[in-house]
Amino acid sequence: MAAKPKHFKLLMLSWLHAAFYPYNTFTDAADLTWDENGYIIYCPCMGRFGNQADHFLGTLAFAKLLNRTLAVPPWIVYRHHAPPFTNVHVPYTDFFQLDPLRQYHRVVTLEDFMHHLAPTHWPPGRRTAYCFESSVQRSADKKSCPMKDGNPFGPFWDHIGVDFDHSVPYGGLYFSSYYIPHWIKRFPPAEHPVLALAGAPAQFPVLEEHVGLQRYVVWAEKMVQDGEKHISTQLLRPYVGIHLRIGSDWQNACKLLQSGEAGPHLMASPQCVGYDRQTALPLTITMCLPDLTEILRAVKLWVKKTSALSIFIATDSESYNSEIEKLFKGKIKVVTIHPDVAQLDLYILGQADHFIGNCVSSFSAFVKRERDVHGRPSSFFGMDYPMRRKRTDEL
Ligand code: GDP
Ligand code: MN
Repeated sequence: MAAKPKHFKLLMLSWLHAAFYPYNTFTDAADLTWDENGYIIYCPCMGRFGNQADHFLGTLAFAKLLNRTLAVPPWIVYRHHAPPFTNVHVPYTDFFQLDPLRQYHRVVTLEDFMHHLAPTHWPPGRRTAYCFESSVQRSADKKSCPMKDGNPFGPFWDHIGVDFDHSVPYGGLYFSSYYIPHWIKRFPPAEHPVLALAGAPAQFPVLEEHVGLQRYVVWAEKMVQDGEKHISTQLLRPYVGIHLRIGSDWQNACKLLQSGEAGPHLMASPQCVGYDRQTALPLTITMCLPDLTEILRAVKLWVKKTSALSIFIATDSESYNSEIEKLFKGKIKVVTIHPDVAQLDLYILGQADHFIGNCVSSFSAFVKRERDVHGRPSSFFGMDYPMRRKRTDEL
């Protein structure tokens, strides 16, 4: 008897789901079962896509080590320069498939968690925030986790419809694997079913041992279709894809290198100079901010080496389209699309026959990791032959 209403409820839920999330794939019933091992939910509140993606991989590893289901958050896209002139929360599944993640660990989208599980298992009144002790100092009462203070924090939790009722500040716990037993002891799932965190329980940039988790981040069908359409209609293979990270925010970021105090590691730079500080190759200003001379040099080299027939330029600002066309006397097709969705650039860069990235950029790092998974070659401006990563076979 119990089966019938339950089934009916599922149907209703799936109908509601379809009504509110028309672009999401249908949730199978397995997702709707409560996991007694608990959940991790977090706000991807640091940085733009590249940073959020780095954090996502580390968080996936953390959730697995804690044996809690990961509620996969939407991406936060900052649309302050174009409509709707505010933060947009894009479901994970708009860009990537959920199922491949399950080959690694249990996941549910945060949207599904909120719609199907939270009403019963994490209802208003029982929503506890967890944060570093030091961060409660920032709150008005010096006792609460400042979960919703400022942008993007407030808009994120408002978007998913969460207010917090309690706070549990903690000290002496960090996100590296060493602390896993401490986390488990401190927060047993029976008493702390949902660990809601103000930021990702992960480091930036992604740790070397988690780089390989990129293989579970698989493009959504719609992204593949859009990307392949651009490639087949506009580009000629072989093509070289380049990422120009040269805009004004980046020029400022690279100034950190000028003082010479930064060392080899600046943001995503371990991807090309190596993760080990002792053996890391030097990080030069050209690698962070290639000038036109370096851009033309590297493009010429790799177009020649790969006998490329076209060049795809993804850029945060200028494309140097005409300068590059001139370099090849108009014989090589040069394509820029300035897409509305930055992930389209990422997809097309990922498919290139050769990729030249920016070593310091986490946007480039996403492309490099994906290409590594599929054995496709990459280099960087200022570094034609990057340091190879240690093989990590456990992934
Ligand atoms: P990082 O700052 O380079 O480490 O990477 P982030 O992803 O954190 O921030 C850079 C952001 O600038 C991206 O998320 C994009 O929104 C934008 N951006 C940078 N380079 C490109 C590009 O080549 N194409 C597009 N469409 N957007 C870019
Ligand atoms: Mn950034």
